[in-house]
Amino acid sequence: MRRGLLLLVSSPGGAGKTSLSRRLVADFKGMTLSISATTRPPRPGEVEGREYLFKTREQFEAMIAADELLEWAEVNGHRYGTPKGPVMAALEAGRDVLFDIDWQGARQVARQAPEDSVRVYILPPSWSDLARRLHARAQDDQAVIEQRLALGRREVAHWTEYDYVIVNKDFDHAYADLVHIYRAERMKPGRNPWLPPFVESLREEEV
Ligand code: 5GP
Repeated sequence: MRRGLLLLVSSPGGAGKTSLSRRLVADFKGMTLSISATTRPPRPGEVEGREYLFKTREQFEAMIAADELLEWAEVNGHRYGTPKGPVMAALEAGRDVLFDIDWQGARQVARQAPEDSVRVYILPPSWSDLARRLHARAQDDQAVIEQRLALGRREVAHWTEYDYVIVNKDFDHAYADLVHIYRAERMKPGRNPWLPPFVESLREEEV
């Protein structure tokens, strides 16, 4: 018996949030990754249903109209949103859910479920480091990279809305920090409804 938490991870694009998130989901069986819907075209190597559910603008509008999204936002000229169904199913099954979403989405989810949300912001050690990573990734062309860097510089202002901040200078360190945050948050009494009956049984136990 456990009450699932919503781990909302945001960062400027390229700061390593996606790799950190995917590693956490791979290492912890109780954690499910929320797969977002987006109108952005797939990047090389991205697979439908693994990175995103790729939608046309019309399909995305239909999802909004049918109230199928927990939150949605426009980022860099494209729409991104979190389908409600899989999140509810995971929570009902007692699982935690990790969201790789921007500050607008994190804010919306945290408003809807303040008790269950934990917000983590990942910062790059510097903008030049971030630019280097975006170039090395070679998934976007120069103009898109510049646009993403400019967006990152604006969006980083929202870091104060987060419960935790990690500077991703070194992947292993940053990952260890993320694991610490997740483990500590899992141990909060409110997330463990089995605790009161357990403590009661301890009180009643005869030795
Ligand atoms: P990218 O195009 O690089 O995959 O993602 C661009 C931005 O959109 C990232 O900051 C990512 O976290 C954010 N994003 C991805 N999915 C969602 C979502 O479902 N909702 C919101 N609000 N942002 C999202």
